[in-house]
Amino acid sequence: MFRGRTQAATVVDSLNGHRTDTDYIIRAEDVSKTYESETGKVPALRNVDFSIERGEMVAIMGPSGCGKTTLLNCLSGLDTIDTGRIWLDGTDIATLSDRKRTSYRARRMGFIFQVYNLLPVLSSAENVELPLLVAGVKPKEARERAMAALETVGLGQWTGQRPARLSGGQRQRVTVARALVTNPAIVWADEPTGALDSRTASEIMDLMRDLNERQGLSFLVVTHDAGIGDRCDRIVRMQDGVIAGEVAHDIFAQSMAVATRAD
Ligand code: ADP
Repeated sequence: MFRGRTQAATVVDSLNGHRTDTDYIIRAEDVSKTYESETGKVPALRNVDFSIERGEMVAIMGPSGCGKTTLLNCLSGLDTIDTGRIWLDGTDIATLSDRKRTSYRARRMGFIFQVYNLLPVLSSAENVELPLLVAGVKPKEARERAMAALETVGLGQWTGQRPARLSGGQRQRVTVARALVTNPAIVWADEPTGALDSRTASEIMDLMRDLNERQGLSFLVVTHDAGIGDRCDRIVRMQDGVIAGEVAHDIFAQSMAVATRAD
């Protein structure tokens, strides 16, 4: 499909070091979203421009209520936007039917939330294979891929356990395995370590970073934890529904060091 650029123009752009649509897994332009509540309108996102390059791990930080989850939900298509445009893998999501958008989400996106959202009556393997079965993968292949994903997250010995028999860290590993089992292009993680103690949080972050570096998996991580943000390539700060600033990881680490010295 022709989307306003020729392939030659795209090649010239990349040779010149300019970013092109195909460099981004997600790109949002001038996105706004207002919720209606009993007390009136709540502008959750105001003219937000945002993008994630392929293979990038980006943290979104900011005070409670500033719009982090709304941004994640809108970018991932879990929620709708009022105005603006969002391109997923180079395709304007407004041009996709509901069915295509849902199918893309199932095949190309993984989700990790603070609450594990695991089905209590299912074993680890059954929880992890579920998205594959929903996507129409044959049961034998789904089970093999679920076992491999659980092995990847270090739970090869725990495939038959139900969530109640696992620690908080192990449960979150199961959700990481479930998020990556479909071989997604991007994983959306909303406060993935919010319910964990700091050591376990750090282990889960190690795991996600490893998947990012080894498998080139793109991540968007909503977090309150500066230690988690610090491990990402880039930290985007939100305030009152707008992007208030952005720091690359190394600059952020330096500014943290300066702030620590000043204390
Ligand atoms: P954050 O993730 O940064 O804590 P949210 O994206 O959850 O912020 O919320 C942004 C703003 O939108 C807040 O003021 C919140 O109360 C409001 N909000 C979020 N979801 C809804 C909703 N479904 N209905 C009404 N207001 C909402």
